[in-house]
Amino acid sequence: MGQGLSCRASHEHDFFRAVQAGDLESVEYMVESEPSMLHRTTVYERLSALHIAAANGRIEVLCKVLDRLAHPDLLNRHKQTPLMLAAMHGKISCVQKLIEAGANILMFDSLHGRTCLHYAAYYGHSECLQAILTAAQSTTVANSWGFARFVNVRDGNGATPLHLAARQRRPDCIHILLDNGALVCASTEGYGLPGSTPLHLAARGGCLDCVRELLAWGADRLQRDSSGRIPYDVALKRNHGACAALLNPSSAEPLVWPSPLKFISELNSDAKLLLERALMEANMARERNILKGTKYLLPSPSHSDEGTDDDISSDSETELCCICFDQVCTIEVQDCGHQMCAHCTLALCCHNKPNPVTACKPAPVCPFCRSNIARLVVVKAKDEEKDMENKSKFKRPRRSRNLSEGSSSFKGLSSAIGSFSKRGSDRLADETVDKP
Ligand SMILES: [Zn+2]
Ligand SMILES: [Zn+2]
Repeated sequence: MGQGLSCRASHEHDFFRAVQAGDLESVEYMVESEPSMLHRTTVYERLSALHIAAANGRIEVLCKVLDRLAHPDLLNRHKQTPLMLAAMHGKISCVQKLIEAGANILMFDSLHGRTCLHYAAYYGHSECLQAILTAAQSTTVANSWGFARFVNVRDGNGATPLHLAARQRRPDCIHILLDNGALVCASTEGYGLPGSTPLHLAARGGCLDCVRELLAWGADRLQRDSSGRIPYDVALKRNHGACAALLNPSSAEPLVWPSPLKFISELNSDAKLLLERALMEANMARERNILKGTKYLLPSPSHSDEGTDDDISSDSETELCCICFDQVCTIEVQDCGHQMCAHCTLALCCHNKPNPVTACKPAPVCPFCRSNIARLVVVKAKDEEKDMENKSKFKRPRRSRNLSEGSSSFKGLSSAIGSFSKRGSDRLADETVDKP
């Protein structure tokens, strides 16, 4: 009897080792000879073969096991599903396969009451995060719960995925979550210090990129936690000086991504990427000013290594923007076809925020001909136009050239943007608060 038990235990041990190592042949052999293996679990954590395959990114084994299981939502000791473990470890192919196989994205573990979305955000796996969000848009969860509610799902301590991403210094995840409707000013209940917003948690984590993302999406520097602290106080207390400088309410207001504008959310992805970069560049220029007097220095812009030597004026196709006469035209207004640079487009959109008095949203109009803007697209070079359709949009040399402004053109840009944002910033701040 005792011998039988230990023999069985060693069988299981071999089986789980084979799953962990991704040894498909051995796994197949053992499952064939003993199908019940698939329902056994490890002694302490109660991990099934599916959990182990998912956590270790063993996609072939995972597929094989999934073929033989009725459903993929097995639970371990902490009620974690294989999908949660795949999201925790950033195993994107396993995340996708599990979702395909019908894994429920709205399961809560028993540790902190977290979903797979919390796991992806906490551990900073932006690809997994995106895959789960994409699934949430099409599954029954979206119908029963609503997508917006899912993006802002709270764990047992009242933390949304955005809170966790901010605390864990995950700027990429923050960006994706905000882009999908995460509430930038939501307060936690018990997570961190009670009443913390994502900005409080980013201040605590000391991640400048996170603070920058949140501010660009309209996070409120003056919102207080339950103890009355603003994010600035938190950054100071934690000795995150650069973050504190940006969070200081007396520092200049950052440009805010004009998310309430309907047409912005309908931008094609190329144009959106350009505008997002323009906004980040404008805010970085502003940050350099804020940090100039302090000992904190910002690293140079991330794209400074890609061809700063490019001489824009030597290119006959490029045209200077007729608004700022500083940047190259990268955005085309449709249907009229007028062109301007991304920075000016952005300033135009930020400037045209909805009017709270009349409660109507004035659609931004083309600054040249005042016609309505139906769409914003990326300017195409004339000779490249024909084969553009088939080309990878993101690898064109034009883009990197257009965006690699030298430091000299930054001056012009920041003053151009500055004049817009100075006029608009007070109003912007008010409206951000008023937003429903
Ligand atoms: Zn311009
Ligand atoms: Zn026009």
